[in-house]
Amino acid sequence: MAPRTGEGGGSVTFDGVAGIDDALVEVLGAKPAALLAGQLAAHTVGDLLRHYPRRYADQGQPTPIADLTPGQDVTVVAEVRACTSRRMQRREGTIQHAVIWDGSRELDLTFFNQKHLPRVLTAGRMALFAGRVSTYGKARTLQLTHPRYQLLDGDAEALAEFARPLIPVYPATKDLPSWTIQLCVRQVFEVLDDPEDPLPAGVRAAHRLPELGAALRAVHRSDDRAQITSAQHRLKWDEAMAVQLTLAQRRLEAASRPAPACPRRDGALAAAFDAALPFTLTTGQQEVGELLAAELAATHPMNRLLQGEVGSGKTVVALRAMLQVLDAGRQAALLAPTEVLAAQHVRSLHAMLGAHGRAGELGSAEQATKIVLLTGSLPARARKQALLDVASGAAGIVVGTHALIQDRVSFADLGLVVVDEQHRFGVEQRDTLRTRAPEGTSPHVLVMTATPIPRTVAMTVYGDLEVCALRELPRGRAPISTTVVPVGEKPSWLDRVWQRITEEVAAGRQAYVVCPRIGGEDAPGEDVPGAASERPPLAVLELAPQLEEGPLAGLRLGILHGRSSGNEKDAVMRSFTAGEIDVLVATTVIEVGVDVPNATVMAIMDAQRFGLSQLHQLRGRVGRGSHPGLCLLVTDSPAGSAARQRLDAVAATTDGFELAQRDLELRREGDVLGAVQSGRRSGLKLLSLRSDADLIGQARQVAQRLVRADPGLTEHPGLARLAAELLDEQRAQFLQKV
Ligand code: ADP
Ligand code: MG
Repeated sequence: MAPRTGEGGGSVTFDGVAGIDDALVEVLGAKPAALLAGQLAAHTVGDLLRHYPRRYADQGQPTPIADLTPGQDVTVVAEVRACTSRRMQRREGTIQHAVIWDGSRELDLTFFNQKHLPRVLTAGRMALFAGRVSTYGKARTLQLTHPRYQLLDGDAEALAEFARPLIPVYPATKDLPSWTIQLCVRQVFEVLDDPEDPLPAGVRAAHRLPELGAALRAVHRSDDRAQITSAQHRLKWDEAMAVQLTLAQRRLEAASRPAPACPRRDGALAAAFDAALPFTLTTGQQEVGELLAAELAATHPMNRLLQGEVGSGKTVVALRAMLQVLDAGRQAALLAPTEVLAAQHVRSLHAMLGAHGRAGELGSAEQATKIVLLTGSLPARARKQALLDVASGAAGIVVGTHALIQDRVSFADLGLVVVDEQHRFGVEQRDTLRTRAPEGTSPHVLVMTATPIPRTVAMTVYGDLEVCALRELPRGRAPISTTVVPVGEKPSWLDRVWQRITEEVAAGRQAYVVCPRIGGEDAPGEDVPGAASERPPLAVLELAPQLEEGPLAGLRLGILHGRSSGNEKDAVMRSFTAGEIDVLVATTVIEVGVDVPNATVMAIMDAQRFGLSQLHQLRGRVGRGSHPGLCLLVTDSPAGSAARQRLDAVAATTDGFELAQRDLELRREGDVLGAVQSGRRSGLKLLSLRSDADLIGQARQVAQRLVRADPGLTEHPGLARLAAELLDEQRAQFLQKV
């Protein structure tokens, strides 16, 4: 039986045997195939079978009419009682009214401009109807408006299909309802020759995984929940293996490229820098330093991720690595996510290096190097000079934003790339960077992040890197205390916030006020859904003038946000660092890396609008000096709400790892993966970064072992294909972003 749609579908019967690579058009006929191709981008039998049910409805669903409530999206199985058509009174067109009955209750249906309907929905016919429940009239009578329908009567097979104990519910679209997919899948399985299993039998046995063919049948057609769970587990393995094989191949490939060896040299820049350090390195800094020094000296590239809480001193570690590379006669690049940070890095590098960082300038040290800043907002001439310095090798250290350095710069002899503070920089971008070293070699890569990375994310998004961490903060660092300020219940506390800031400033310190929105032209329009009831988030450009004229009158306020020009940002940061601005009102542009030790208090307005990790990052901007830091999470979310619980969690711990894990649990999977889930094809359908850590870890080991033994996977063509398909489908989206 071919699936029919409400519009009356065509049918081509296929009577051969179908393989997983066969075109759906041959198996299902032109019309259903076109629908599946258009709606799900499913072209082959395999594409369709990898479109898994989202859930399974127990028998009893479709929903009984008696249980319907307005607003629900429902499917009901019912018999047609009557169907009539008439002209509309005030408008062009016709309206059709039908009444259906499911043995307990009646339900009204309304259609528009379907004049043929009374001939189709004749009394006594059985059909499935799907749509959103609404109400009409004073009595608030329930109805379905323009529901989709699927006739069942006279088709014993179709009826039987929907009488199954478990009905698979597929990610569907408006034009391709779940049951049509169900019928297509059913039809495919009737002729399917079970596919060859890409997973080696040994792996299947070791992890007790059902065979692919059995798993596919079970996930679509089983009536047994335990069997479905086991099938899903097996299919998750396919996804995890695809990811981990790809990563294992990348790791192997990256590690086997030649790299510019940068052995340590005595009596050079690095040594001079160490001698001049105003503090002693923490044990962690020393240990990681040794590790990096050894890897930089090797002839294969270092590929490292350095995790460390905000303020743990990663920049010093990176700088020491860069100096070792400079001493070896090569260049180092430092990539920052924003222009503000790039400029700040240049300032702190100059501060740390002193005369060693001013080659060519008066009074520079003998072995001095030149530090060059490259950002998009650099005037054309300055940029040209900077690019020349990089290309000629005159510049030893190049600092810039990711995009700029990645795309346009040619280096004389790039030895090390340090990527700072980024959580939006994926495997593929890192691959691009690896092509920037001299002919045939790959530079060493050090990625630094202050966002603690949950294990699954480290195994996927950062799966091409070896991970190390700085776990302690430098001694003498004052702790940050965090307080939730519930202005909904205690409006007067807001005054207290401004008072605290005023006190800190009076004591010679500085403050941040962070808002979720810039303001001005980005104000949400009147017609945004929910805008009427929901207050727009507080905005920098609106709050700053209010503070200036009100509670913070007399203090020197500065403004920083994503629309400020590069020059403005730089000037503002410079004044703030110099203490010429008391209070910086800003968006999250200050989230990462900004280092002004004299800033001691931060008020985060509408704090409920930020993610946990983001709040943690933000508060890391205060308490970076010897004075204790204070972070005030201002919110009008009511006590006990989910939002308040999240804020309480941030206030309760300063452990970034714990918060990152909580954050991951609270975010939807789609956000984590950056993938569109509904109805579209996407690489990871079943695998969850939140809940499948163990499986991912096991797959990682298996993949590593297989790739070591057989880098090209020539012995495992099925696996090679699994990995290749994932990459092409997705452009490895999930590898890129968290
Ligand atoms: P991160 O980049 O990890 O957030 P930074 O490298 O910016 O941290 O360091 C934060 C501050 O701590 C800087 O002002 C830096 O000079 C200082 N610092 C780094 N290491 C030490 C140390 N071992 N002892 C004292 N201060 C340190
Ligand atoms: Mg830093």
